[in-house]
Amino acid sequence: MNGQERPVIIAGNWKMHKTRAEAVELSKTIRNAVAGEKDLPVVVLCPPFTSLEAALSSCEKSEIQIGAQNMEHRDSGAFTGEVSPLMLKDLGVSYVIIGHSERRQLFGETNTSVNLKFKAALKHKLVAIVCVGETLDERESNLTDAVVSRQVAAALDDVDAADLKTLVIAYEPVWAIGTGKVCEADEANRVCKLIRATVGNLYGNKSLSQSIPILYGGSVKPSNIDEQLAQSDIDGSLVGGASLNAEEFLALVKSGQKKVGLAASRS
Ligand code: PEP
Repeated sequence: MNGQERPVIIAGNWKMHKTRAEAVELSKTIRNAVAGEKDLPVVVLCPPFTSLEAALSSCEKSEIQIGAQNMEHRDSGAFTGEVSPLMLKDLGVSYVIIGHSERRQLFGETNTSVNLKFKAALKHKLVAIVCVGETLDERESNLTDAVVSRQVAAALDDVDAADLKTLVIAYEPVWAIGTGKVCEADEANRVCKLIRATVGNLYGNKSLSQSIPILYGGSVKPSNIDEQLAQSDIDGSLVGGASLNAEEFLALVKSGQKKVGLAASRS
């Protein structure tokens, strides 16, 4: 936990990487390395659908959480190629990434579908990591704040305050994802604060917004994570590329541990 009693979360989005055998190798290496460690952040691994079961059994009876990278919002039906929240729950998955920019940009997801998926995650008690973030064009047109607050408001449309307990928001500027261009830490923190204020205003409840973990994602690496995690409103990282390598991901987890340990020593 940090000073505001929010969990510190280090989540790896493996995207379309790792066969089952590779998933077993990576998740077992991570599991063994963190076993018995003090001040661990919440560690979430998000393999592709086909490697979820392999990662789940490799991490059984450990602290590591397994998440999906996407899901359909309906429970079942004639939706060829889709995977439902019911199916993820049945497998033992506990987290799901919703509205990743690659889903929005390449697969036509919208603020409306993100809202439906978030509500489905709530219904099935999956912790949702809802991704928001502006494109480079939007940033250069000074639209960052408007775009991000609109995405947050749309994701939470028609959702009760009591249901926000299993919400994690990831601020992921699209231009920083997979490009090596990390958002300056103080700017990332400013947008994370804006996200928090947006939630507070939507519900007329500032303390509710203080309880929601907000992650930064976009080219996070061992060399830049500490600066991000030192910020007041960044509670962890959603990591793509650097989560595919055990050594790099474990270095990120170590930085998460430092943040947890620091907060514990202050309280
Ligand atoms: C991501 O996929 O969510 C991500 C942030 O990717 P990367 O760390 O590679 O920029």
